[in-house]
Amino acid sequence: MEVVTPTVGLLTLAGCLTFLVAPEEAPRDIHVAAALSPSTLPVVVVDAGHGGRDEGARCNGLVEKNVSLDLAVRVEQRLQVLGFKTVMTRRADAYVSLPERAELANQVEHSLFVSLHCNKSPSSSATGVETFFATEKVVPEPEWTFVGFFAKPEPMARADRGENLAGYVQASLLNRTEAGNRGIKARPLYVVRHTRAPAVLVEAGFLSNPFEARLLGTPEYRELIAKAVAEGVAEFARTMPPPPKPATQLAKATR
Ligand SMILES: [Zn+2]
Repeated sequence: MEVVTPTVGLLTLAGCLTFLVAPEEAPRDIHVAAALSPSTLPVVVVDAGHGGRDEGARCNGLVEKNVSLDLAVRVEQRLQVLGFKTVMTRRADAYVSLPERAELANQVEHSLFVSLHCNKSPSSSATGVETFFATEKVVPEPEWTFVGFFAKPEPMARADRGENLAGYVQASLLNRTEAGNRGIKARPLYVVRHTRAPAVLVEAGFLSNPFEARLLGTPEYRELIAKAVAEGVAEFARTMPPPPKPATQLAKATR
């Protein structure tokens, strides 16, 4: 069992959180399974960036599509340990288009979306982690396949909390790693913009930086990143409203 101890990293982090937005208190080691009921936990759609003919960045002996898939598998495992159900947009070295990824995510009710990538810069000195979210969504109206099953559609306002999710994930990455803080950023990246659920895209470090590439080449560092992402997701999930109750249950309750 893991002993929860406050860390120096956490203390220094407290100063950063004001500009990181969202969380009112700093994330810390948590035991989510005890704090959250599995029935109300969101399903996490884990998106490994790139794949197949879309390699992403290729630097310092690493190919982004491979690193992102390994990170995604590790994030999925960490999330499952914390009690989350997960959906992966790809599990193999396969090409999946951006619209296909968003469409898959939009089929999952009461969900979160986390896309995993690695960065590249023309300057080999660029380093650090950053988390993107979209301020405006472009998503189709929900298709209520089970008309009448849900009491009411989930309001859009409730779903558009990507900035908060980004804040928790970024803070957790800084808590767990020594990586530089490039902050959370609003940017209309396709997958976060077209996903109805709260959605973020994590850039877990620069493959173009020899030091970060060496770290990202190791299973230990990837595991650290995965743990941080999963814990950030879990912290955010604690703030989510429960899923809407099925109408049939409501009807019984009011009889
Ligand atoms: Zn990428």
